[in-house]
Amino acid sequence: MDEEQVIQQIEQFFQWYKNVYDYTLLLEKPLPQLKPRQVAKSKPEPSLKRGVQSFKRVAQYKQTSPELQAFYEEIKNCQKCALHKTRKNFVFGYGNAQAEVMFVGEAPGRDEDEQGLPFVGVSGKLLDKMFASIGLKREEVYIANVIKCRPPDNRNPLPEEIEQCEPYLVKQIELIQPRLIVALGLFAAQTLLKQQQPLSQLRENEHRYHDIPVIVTYHPSALLRKPILKEKAWQDLKKIKGFLDRD
Ligand code: URA
Repeated sequence: MDEEQVIQQIEQFFQWYKNVYDYTLLLEKPLPQLKPRQVAKSKPEPSLKRGVQSFKRVAQYKQTSPELQAFYEEIKNCQKCALHKTRKNFVFGYGNAQAEVMFVGEAPGRDEDEQGLPFVGVSGKLLDKMFASIGLKREEVYIANVIKCRPPDNRNPLPEEIEQCEPYLVKQIELIQPRLIVALGLFAAQTLLKQQQPLSQLRENEHRYHDIPVIVTYHPSALLRKPILKEKAWQDLKKIKGFLDRD
């Protein structure tokens, strides 16, 4: 890693820290002044820029597609499991129908059930900051959950609920055809990958779901409960960005 890359990594970390924690790191002494950066003209563009540009291109497409819309219409009144009796809204998913990356969470919570959209509560706010830290916007990615209706009192989804609902996620993935899937948290990871290892182990390994690469990371609500995990989540975010920056 050359000096330029080290400085870029440090800057990205501080930017990410500010995004996630909402304040800058307090230092006892001021940082030494860095010499103004001299970037040779012949050097390639820093990878962050490449990633952002490629997503700008994707973001020009419509937020949904006729196929996704038709699929939503087909399943929005689903009554396959008991969760339909207590839901306010069926939470299908949100984002770019041609997204390069799809984020998969567990199940809607109270805010999501109210609004019919995934990750719109406090964990969604943190998720947006995680996106921003690697130059992504919610509109550029696709977000869905394994379970489309809120389990009462936010209990864990039951095996029969997963069994009924998972084919909807598979169909969404087929229609969107992302280059990468990010499993948010243990529940999404274990459901997608059919593996029972702890999250710490699943994070370390390479996975595929229906032939699409999967990166496993912490669920935003776990990061809110245990902020110490944010450093590890940052490693995962860099992995995601590294993957998307590859041509
Ligand atoms: N947690 C999830 O897993 N999904 C949501 O949509 C909201 C919170």
